[in-house]
Amino acid sequence: MVALRLLLLGAPGSGKGTQSEVLRRQFGIPQLSTGDMLRQALAAGTELGLKAKDYMERGVLVPDDVMIGLMRDRITQPDCVNGYILDGFPRTVPQATALDQMLKSVDSRLDVVCEIVVPDSDLLKRLSGRWLCKKCGASYHVEFRPSKAAGQCDSCNGPLYQRPDDTIETARKRLEVYRKETLPLAEYYKQQGILKTINGVGSVEEIEQRLLSAIGKTS
Ligand code: AMP
Repeated sequence: MVALRLLLLGAPGSGKGTQSEVLRRQFGIPQLSTGDMLRQALAAGTELGLKAKDYMERGVLVPDDVMIGLMRDRITQPDCVNGYILDGFPRTVPQATALDQMLKSVDSRLDVVCEIVVPDSDLLKRLSGRWLCKKCGASYHVEFRPSKAAGQCDSCNGPLYQRPDDTIETARKRLEVYRKETLPLAEYYKQQGILKTINGVGSVEEIEQRLLSAIGKTS
């Protein structure tokens, strides 16, 4: 096991979730996906889920204070001592500065930020054709990566579903929000000297290899 504090930055549909899962297995460190945490809270009907519901349905961001509180609780859990893969947080400059402060207070910092870049036309195609496994979260695509049996996960036989915010209109909105609110983080981390830019077009394996060489670590 290696210590690694990694942030994957990228638009919705850029493959952050898929690559986080690959790297999580490779390095044995947890994947911290705020989108997954919110969807779980929504499914469980918790106060957090109720707070986030309307924002998520509209494809806009949940307020910073809610997200910062959520991440502060998660990143201080014992399973994060050897590192983690951040997927979907931070998404705004205030979230990034809050994360820096959080880490600094425990004498820590991010090791590397990988920005996965995919053209917008590809992102819309990926999002609108995406199907996910309800049980294990595996990701499929009607055209590019269909499951063997229709509506069923290849690895765990769980049922496949489409995210309600993957409709073309909401996906467009999410991309617009990404460009406006999240893309400035690339410059933020470039200034810190920890940004790596990765071409996100290619097979899962190709992109994994690009990430591994950018990170400069092997498991
Ligand atoms: P994702 O699964 O990362 O695409 O996130 C789905 C939705 O959850 C987003 O469109 C936002 O509404 C919300 N969300 C997830 N992470 C964050 C975050 N760090 N800040 C604000 N909203 C978030």
